[in-house]
Amino acid sequence: VKPPPVTRYNLNNVTITHNPLDNRENILILTPMARFYQAYWDNLLKLTYSHELITLGFILPKNKEGNTATTELQKQIAKTQQYGPEKDRFKSIIILRQDFDPPLPSQDEGERHKMQNQKIRRAAMAKARNSLLFTTLGPSTSWVLWLDADIIETPPTLIQDLAFHDKPLIAPNCFQRYYNTERKVMDERAYDFNNWQDSPTAQELASKMGYDDILLEGYADMATYRALMAYMYEEGADIHHEVPLDGVGGTALLVKADVHRDGAMFPPFAFYHLIETEGFAKMAKRLGWQAAGLPNYKVYHYNE
Ligand code: GDP
Ligand code: MN
Repeated sequence: VKPPPVTRYNLNNVTITHNPLDNRENILILTPMARFYQAYWDNLLKLTYSHELITLGFILPKNKEGNTATTELQKQIAKTQQYGPEKDRFKSIIILRQDFDPPLPSQDEGERHKMQNQKIRRAAMAKARNSLLFTTLGPSTSWVLWLDADIIETPPTLIQDLAFHDKPLIAPNCFQRYYNTERKVMDERAYDFNNWQDSPTAQELASKMGYDDILLEGYADMATYRALMAYMYEEGADIHHEVPLDGVGGTALLVKADVHRDGAMFPPFAFYHLIETEGFAKMAKRLGWQAAGLPNYKVYHYNE
């Protein structure tokens, strides 16, 4: 009688280095997805990191919008994985569907950014990210790239460029292109305000808050005076200029898999008065992992 097979992984052999391509390190790209954008997929296909080392993981809500997005996503997956050129094909792809209880209503940009909607929304997003992470992170994963479904433009070398910094967590600067009606030209503006450095004012606000209350960034009613990476961009300056961060966003974020393996996740509750991705940066820090950001390295968010 044959003994049952045992698969052994030595986590010490899973390298996490500043040159992941040469070391053939596996990367997991994780995307919570409420809507499917073709430009997101097209940008993903253009990433020059070896696709045979990339696993994709998606989580989509179980509502009408999520069903539509799943259908569109699956169409593109079939096109790439079955009919596309070999070099474009990813190692593997995992799709999760998730019910929220109660279901999160579909919201446009204005509605979901309203302050009173934020806590419920961010908590639901945190749970979606955790479900996605805990069901897909494998013993041979070296890196996790969090990439929102509405990130439609990045440099093709995004993974290599971020990994090169060898940081436990590192975020590029997320901008948005828009039509500037005053200047009558295409223009761009900062989008992700969750990448920040803490301030004494925010600490003071937090100290007076209730147990379950959370600090939010980017709201006039709650001026935190944190230093936002969104505003640290300098035209023409070194794209590899690095700054330390205390809070991070999830639009684009490269994380060493060991940070997650140590237990850092997205708190769906007030953790030091921070929630979701911002709470994640704090939890990583408590585990000894310091987040960093690249203010001059831009990626672009879809404009609704
Ligand atoms: P914002 O850009 O910060 O306003 O946040 P988004 O609404 O774009 O959400 C962040 C990411 O989560 C995007 O990739 C969305 O497609 C995705 N997303 C938004 N709502 C849900 C949801 O209810 N379930 C899941 N699974 N993903 C969602
Ligand atoms: Mn978004």
